[in-house]
Amino acid sequence: MIKAKSILPIFFVSILLMEAVSFASSGAPIYLPLILRPFSRPGFGVLETSHGTIVYQEGVTLAAAQEVGAGFEDAHQVVGEDLGYPEGRPRLYVYRSLDDLLNDLINTWHYPEWFRTYQAIPRMNKNYEAWIPPNMAGWFIGHEYSHRIIERVAGLNSQTKYKWFDEGLAEHEGLRTWAVRSPLEAETARQNYWNQVKTGFQSGQWIALQALTTESQWTAQMSTPNKDWIYLEAAVVVDYLIAQKGLSQVKAVLIKVGSGTPFADAFQQVFGRTVDQFEAEFKAYLISH
Ligand SMILES: [Zn+2]
Repeated sequence: MIKAKSILPIFFVSILLMEAVSFASSGAPIYLPLILRPFSRPGFGVLETSHGTIVYQEGVTLAAAQEVGAGFEDAHQVVGEDLGYPEGRPRLYVYRSLDDLLNDLINTWHYPEWFRTYQAIPRMNKNYEAWIPPNMAGWFIGHEYSHRIIERVAGLNSQTKYKWFDEGLAEHEGLRTWAVRSPLEAETARQNYWNQVKTGFQSGQWIALQALTTESQWTAQMSTPNKDWIYLEAAVVVDYLIAQKGLSQVKAVLIKVGSGTPFADAFQQVFGRTVDQFEAEFKAYLISH
């Protein structure tokens, strides 16, 4: 049921999650309180799941809304076990078309025009609200939702100082969420990420993690041909880190950041090596495998 089965998830990742770009660059809050809530508008139905609320646009079938609900429940469980649980009840808005979603982002939610121009979909916001395009479930929801839980642990907007770590971890959680219902597809996607990174690395396509750390660095890459690569690199690097050290250590970094330790220091304290040293290890691994 997920289109990402046939179209690599990374395709979607590349157009998503650029919200922090605007948040960081504008300096002004993008999210404005709603006067008219979509679920109180005509044309939207509401489906309650165990841990969330699905608000679905007319034209979205109940089955499709239920699938989003199931995907969210998977994400809630997977991300909950890995990183933690929300302090609010998440609300997911499901649209019948990407155009309708983008138009609503601008007109109802007051996101900047930039999102429509680049067909970008924001991560779950601080109020635990997310926007879901058609035919997307576990992987997409797990990715966007985990961004919010990462912020819950490490602090709102803290990810602007550890972007590669944030995006890589979100993708890890997205694949883990996807794997609940489609383990083979999720594993195939993961292997595909690795293969692409190995191939790219061999042809000299590598960007130092130190150059993918801040929001402005990440943003700058988004407007270059590297826009897909940076998500791949982040996903594989964090996949490697978790395989070597375990997810609890990754969470320990987030907890330290949440208590005020700069990311680079938190990383070094938890893993006993600097980001540069870790990156060198990873490259050596890539070369030898
Ligand atoms: Zn992301």
